[in-house]
Amino acid sequence: MSDIIQLLPDHLANQIAAGEVIQRPASAVKELIENAVDAGATSVHLILKDAGKELIQVVDNGKGMSAMDARMSFERHATSKIKKIEDLFEIRTKGFRGEALASIAAVAQVILKTRREEDALGTHIEIASSAVSSQEPVAFAGGTSISVKNLFFNVPARRHFLKSNTTELKHVLDEFLRIALAHPDIAFRFTNNGIEQYNLPGGNLKQRILALLGAGMDKNLIPVEELTDVVQIRGFIGKPEAANRTRGNQFFFINNRFIKSAYLNHAVTNAFEGLIAKDAFPTYILFLEIDPRKVDVNVHPTKQEVKFDDDKIMYAYLQAAIKFALNKFNVAPSIDFSLDSSIQNLDALKMPMTEHRQQEVKQGYLYDKFSNAGQAHFIESREDRKQWQQQQQAFFPEMPGTGLAAPLPVTFDTPSAVQPMLLSDQLMDETGSKSVIQWTDYLITTMKSGVVLLHQKRALERIIFEKLEERMRAREHVSQQLLFPIDISLSPSDALLLNEVLSDLYLLGYDIKPGTEVHSYVIVGVPSDIRGGQEQQMLEWVLEQLKNESDLVIDEQRTILLRTMSKNMAVPRILPAEQAQSLVDELFACTQPQYTPDGKLIFRILSQNDLSALL
Ligand code: ADP
Ligand code: MG
Repeated sequence: MSDIIQLLPDHLANQIAAGEVIQRPASAVKELIENAVDAGATSVHLILKDAGKELIQVVDNGKGMSAMDARMSFERHATSKIKKIEDLFEIRTKGFRGEALASIAAVAQVILKTRREEDALGTHIEIASSAVSSQEPVAFAGGTSISVKNLFFNVPARRHFLKSNTTELKHVLDEFLRIALAHPDIAFRFTNNGIEQYNLPGGNLKQRILALLGAGMDKNLIPVEELTDVVQIRGFIGKPEAANRTRGNQFFFINNRFIKSAYLNHAVTNAFEGLIAKDAFPTYILFLEIDPRKVDVNVHPTKQEVKFDDDKIMYAYLQAAIKFALNKFNVAPSIDFSLDSSIQNLDALKMPMTEHRQQEVKQGYLYDKFSNAGQAHFIESREDRKQWQQQQQAFFPEMPGTGLAAPLPVTFDTPSAVQPMLLSDQLMDETGSKSVIQWTDYLITTMKSGVVLLHQKRALERIIFEKLEERMRAREHVSQQLLFPIDISLSPSDALLLNEVLSDLYLLGYDIKPGTEVHSYVIVGVPSDIRGGQEQQMLEWVLEQLKNESDLVIDEQRTILLRTMSKNMAVPRILPAEQAQSLVDELFACTQPQYTPDGKLIFRILSQNDLSALL
């Protein structure tokens, strides 16, 4: 038999390698804009068609390329940015691997136009599937323009796996945001299908943050600046009250390169402890400058993780810097917190919240808002719950119908319309009257075949879920207009997500209009049964859930929306006897009474046998 091993043809090898660098339009956008930044551009224009599936064009006014360099730039491992191995440890540019253009040209149709200032004529190159089809001199204004058409036209499997335009656009926005934040001095424009997404003049960091994340942030930004021998930390954090229930605005840059770090995120979140609710996410846009030799960025091109020589010190510095900024902002200016500019003594840096300050925080409006949700009868915090349980135990002998329950409006308003089903009819005891006992989280009732143990919150979740589902099916849009409309300002990708579910929210009773600012909205109407004070939070909860599960089809999105809303609208409480009964009835009138929308068991029937095994 003859030998069977062959070298892959170049274009195939390139295609395979391209898969590592270019996964979707957003990765090509990132590489192209970074090249423009590396080329010293002061103005960059990103033009997309169909979220980049049809066209990604980046036009810059950077230094351009010679005819020879233009041709070379598409070769694999062709880079002007490193020459020797030591350079790798001193990287200050975005790119250095020389893979991006080669990868893009392997999987798309590319047109490059470029001219250096000193050249009379520029260069025009067309290349597709790694093969150059034309190269000629051209009159060109200067700088570089690269058009990438029909990404993955020659790799159908990949093209097929691209998501909806909305999803791809969201990924592009994420990349765009990161680069635009890291380079506030560069002017950026971004258009998709002719619609302008951003037009950002060059300016300082604060101006850039406001332009990107909404001018509403203006009053909420606290500057952070800590310059030490090891690390220089600069940037902004959001005031505690600006903390979101979605993870939108959290950015770390190391040496101006966006990174993700759960570890550093922990340091920041920790510094906010006691100031924001447990389920809230602080806003931060933080730049850490470190000696490039002390941090490993020489990782996979698409990876955003980093490794520090000493991450514990980094953690301590960062946490201290944030606490310091928070303190400086919160505490009377007469108290001097200023740190030595070269921070050496870590212990002195830890600066725990003083007792006095903790006390202040607890008395503050914020703490109250977050920890009690305002209303005593909603069983929210663990403290409340414990108290409630104690009360329950004390009164238990008199249950049911002790009058102990607060006379509350029922969240779901049509018990009479409910047609109890078979199972519910069986909930009669011998005398024909039903009795429901409430104990802590549970409702207890009997039926012919046994004792029913029922979890109140889960039952509520199921009932509300089906009710919302029905409301959506009926397309009736029952909404309660707000006396004081609520302005909300979102991160660009949250705004995109919200847009996707806006019509579903409308059917559920939300009336949300676009606000005056970019990515801002106004809630003018809400579902009538939503708890006062939760109109905005509910949206944030929904967005956070949706974000955790990207690339959903519409049906899945809808289920998550309904599930999140019903979970948060279901608030267990002590019910008067007849309401407890109608809750049980309503549950058994549901199409799926046994399980919550996310699959938890709602009730269990203990038969005679089960009981005699116990007793
Ligand atoms: P890398 O950025 O890692 O060097 P790329 O494949 O992204 O690799 O680019 C290859 C080379 O092409 C770069 O090193 C740079 O010299 C040149 N180049 C790419 N884009 C531009 C641009 N917009 N302006 C000027 N030169 C560019
Ligand atoms: Mg590059």
